[in-house]
Amino acid sequence: MKDRYVIGIDLGGTKISGAVANFKGDIISQYTLPTKAEEGEKAVLERIIKVVEKVINESNVDKEKIVSIGIGSPGPLDAKEGKIITTANLPFKDFNIVNPLVEQFHIPAYLDNDANVAAIGEYIFGAGKGTNNMIFITVSTGIGGGAILNGKIYRGNTYNALEIGHMTLDEKGPRCNCGNYGCAEALASGTAIGKIATEQVKKGFKSSLGNYDQITSYEVFKEAEKGDILAKDVLYKALNYLGICVANMITSFDPELVIIGGGVSKGGSIVFEKVKEVVKTRCLKAMWESTKIVPAALGTDAGVKGAIALAIMESK
Ligand SMILES: [Zn+2]
Repeated sequence: MKDRYVIGIDLGGTKISGAVANFKGDIISQYTLPTKAEEGEKAVLERIIKVVEKVINESNVDKEKIVSIGIGSPGPLDAKEGKIITTANLPFKDFNIVNPLVEQFHIPAYLDNDANVAAIGEYIFGAGKGTNNMIFITVSTGIGGGAILNGKIYRGNTYNALEIGHMTLDEKGPRCNCGNYGCAEALASGTAIGKIATEQVKKGFKSSLGNYDQITSYEVFKEAEKGDILAKDVLYKALNYLGICVANMITSFDPELVIIGGGVSKGGSIVFEKVKEVVKTRCLKAMWESTKIVPAALGTDAGVKGAIALAIMESK
C-alpha cells in the first residue's frame, strides 16, 4: 500500500468535497466547491472535475500513484453502472457520473450511496475498525444502512441491500414516502419523530411542545429530557421501533457490531439504552450478548472519509 493514493469525493446537495489521501486515510489535500445544483448536470459535473483537478495538483502526488476514485452520493443510484438515477437535491437524472471521470483522469472510479459509503468509512477508519462483520444504520431525516460482511460491503443483487428505512415494522403504520405503510422511516426517523409529535399536539394533547411554532426531533429530545410526558411517549415509541429494526438486523446478520449514526444517534444515552433494551428482549441471547451497539465515530468529515474508504476498498 506504500506510495499508493486514492481520491474521495463527497457529492451533496449543497457542496462537493474532494480529497487525496493515502491508504491510511491521511488527507494530503482537500478542496470544496458549492454544488449549485440549480445550474444543471453539466455545470455540476464540471465542478466535480475541477475539485478533482485541484486536489491532485495541490497534493503534489504523482498522478500515476493515484489508484482509484470513490464517490459517495445520495441515492437512488445504479452503483453497478455508475449512474445517479435521481436525487432530491441534485440535478442528475439517469446520469452516469463515473464514465466522465474515468475519461478525464484515467483512474478507475466507483460510485456508492451515502449509507454504504458511511458504513465503509466506519469500517476502515471509525468505530468498526478491526471488525469483520458489522452493520451501520443512519437515522436522520431518513433511515439507511450498510452491511460489511466478511470484510466486504454487501450490496445485494440490485445494489439496494440494507434499504432498511423501508423495512415494514408495523403493517398498519403511517404511510411512508415510498408508498408503503409502516416503514421504519415513517416510524423512527428524525422526520417521523417531529411529525408524530406535531400531530399529537394538534390533537390537543397537553405538552410543552405546544410552545413551539415548529416541532422537529430536536425539540422532542429536548422536552423529553426535561420530563414532558408527550415528548417522552413519542420518543420512546420511535426508539422502540428503531430497536426492533436493530434487532432484526442482528437476527439476520449476526454481526459483531452495530453502529448507529445520523442526527438521532446524537440524542445520546437515551437512544442507546432504549435500543439495547429492545434488542435484549427480541434477539436470541447468544446474539445480543455478543453484539456491541455503539455510536458512529466519524464526525464532520464522514462523507469524504467514507468516499476515501470506498476507493481503498475497491482498489484492494
Ligand atoms: Zn418506505
